[in-house]
Amino acid sequence: MRIIKEIWEMQTISKQLRQSKKTIGFVPTMGALHPGHMSLIKKARRDCNTVIVSIFVNPLQFGPGEDYEQYPKDMERDCSLAREEGVDLVFAPDHHSFYPQGYSTHVEVGDLGDALCGEARPGHFRGVTTVVAKLFNVVRPNVAYFGQKDYQQSLIIRKMVDELAMDIEIEVLPIVRRRDGLALSSRNAYLDKEQIRTARLLYQSLKKAQELILNGEREISSILSQSREVLEPMVQIDYLSICDYHTLQPLTQLDSGKVLIALAGFVGKTRLIDNILVDIPK
Ligand code: AMP
Repeated sequence: MRIIKEIWEMQTISKQLRQSKKTIGFVPTMGALHPGHMSLIKKARRDCNTVIVSIFVNPLQFGPGEDYEQYPKDMERDCSLAREEGVDLVFAPDHHSFYPQGYSTHVEVGDLGDALCGEARPGHFRGVTTVVAKLFNVVRPNVAYFGQKDYQQSLIIRKMVDELAMDIEIEVLPIVRRRDGLALSSRNAYLDKEQIRTARLLYQSLKKAQELILNGEREISSILSQSREVLEPMVQIDYLSICDYHTLQPLTQLDSGKVLIALAGFVGKTRLIDNILVDIPK
């Protein structure tokens, strides 16, 4: 497995791979790899000739006062996990070479980036689309893999790829959870034992909402208030929303079909997100 730090070197390799008709599967990450990331890497390994994983903590997607400086980093461990999974190349640029002095080009997708997490984290998704667009230009993948854990992000990436006519297939894979339901996240590393117990409430509250809907409850305010009860006061809710799974706009009534229940909340100082797609039968 090779570790590439320079954009030009990554581009040279990608160009050669493309010319030799190798399919490139790409998994963009911010490192601190866990089995959620590994599920994407495994799928890429199954589907593609060459697997490239990027490890880059993207400063553009962190707001002031967020955890950019503290974000867990362990390049050695990440590389050994990647190697064990049969990754061919790790692209790990440093942020000065990725965004040289004076860097000023951004990619924005509009309204989708303002909903849910975008409301509490203005500019976050502009940072995400900008880094992913640039990574796509450098790595030139045939297929890129994302997790449903960041559902809003995956919608935004799909829209960007579609609207900018990027010739890349986007695959979104299910959320990998601990046995107790907690969604795996690099940020779980910030939590102590007690907080892990609290963090489990996020999934429990989503399951509660799902259960109510599947048992026939159609009153959105009642579903949300019962779901909130699972969280409060232990989790400080940022948002809990039952929304359209394409537009992310809150729903006012429930009909048959898929809906997204999305949640962000603080456990101590750590902001966690989770979501669930519910298919409402006719
Ligand atoms: P991150 O390193 O947090 O930026 O995540 C990199 C990719 O891994 C994103 O596409 C995430 O959605 C995905 N991912 C993170 N956690 C999980 C998880 N628990 N299950 C599945 N995918 C995940």
